[in-house]
Amino acid sequence: MDYTEDLERLKINDLNLLAACPASVGPGSNLAAPQLDRWIAVHDAIAEWYASDQPDEHAVPAIADRVLGRMDPVQRQIAETLFANYRMLMPKSRDEAVDLDPPWSTVYDTASNSSISVATQFGLRTPDEVTLIKLKTGRSRVSDDEKAVLIEGAADPAARFLEVLVADGTVDELELPHEERGAIIDRLFAIPDRNRTLERRGTRPGLHCFRCSRPAECGQYPRLDGEQVIRTERTVIMTKKWLAKLNLCERQAAWARLYGIPHDDVESDDESWGAAAGSTFHQAAAAALLPVRAHPRRDAHGDRSRVRRCRDDPVSAHLRRRQSQRLRRISSGAASRWADFAKNPYPKRGIGR
Ligand code: SF4
Repeated sequence: MDYTEDLERLKINDLNLLAACPASVGPGSNLAAPQLDRWIAVHDAIAEWYASDQPDEHAVPAIADRVLGRMDPVQRQIAETLFANYRMLMPKSRDEAVDLDPPWSTVYDTASNSSISVATQFGLRTPDEVTLIKLKTGRSRVSDDEKAVLIEGAADPAARFLEVLVADGTVDELELPHEERGAIIDRLFAIPDRNRTLERRGTRPGLHCFRCSRPAECGQYPRLDGEQVIRTERTVIMTKKWLAKLNLCERQAAWARLYGIPHDDVESDDESWGAAAGSTFHQAAAAALLPVRAHPRRDAHGDRSRVRRCRDDPVSAHLRRRQSQRLRRISSGAASRWADFAKNPYPKRGIGR
């Protein structure tokens, strides 16, 4: 490959942001990234599990303590479940050599002397095939842009790529027709050039701001007191929905936006009831947990009457029952998954489950 030391390394997220908003280039602020923190913890636990030659009954508890032990109990439970899901979806095989740092896929554009790379997290090699794994711990899937670079720029053209979604418990093979891959890569490499010739610069806010690290820097979202946001200041991106919920319970908003606690899966026709019940629970919890501190956003009834009203509320009572049932279900579900796993720790691996 003909490239020089001045090769410009481009990132897919940065390119797509640049296409949407020219002001997205530049240093960002210190944004809370709970999903990324969790991804790193689960990745490290899996890497240690692959590196260990101890039986799982010894290795797994030690790894969980070492890698996930610093987390708070709720985060640790989520991360341990994701770690367990990975082991069930991708059981170790004695025939596979594991690469904990597989080569990145990279595509080059010699005209602009730039490249775009995408990483995979684990490589599994047998005498017959090489499998490269993209670990996903949230709900987002590998995008077509990433697929195009992964497949087109693979160091081993015969390698196959798997997306392992540990939250959903599914494994999918990553595929994209050759023509689509070429068109996507051409579009990505053309973005910086198109941006250079733009007549109108400045911010262009939109939904893409959720993927940008500069909302506190670009001037589009100024502080209400007019002060500047210091780059090291910790910032959190809120939605209008969560701003409204701050009036009910700061903890609920913090769970979602600061700690990234996943939402429960609910049936679609139960969604609005579930959301209302969740808000009522948090309203009750906030009033009960913060009974004395004066709070400017609380209503005219005051804290005590609010607690009483929430306790008497049938929705609140129903919710408390649901919370207990849910906790029982989580522990019995985990126990039965482990029982299945113990009976058959090396099931035949399938794709697209
Ligand atoms: S936060 Fe939105 S408007 Fe501001 S730079 Fe980023 S993408 Fe542009």
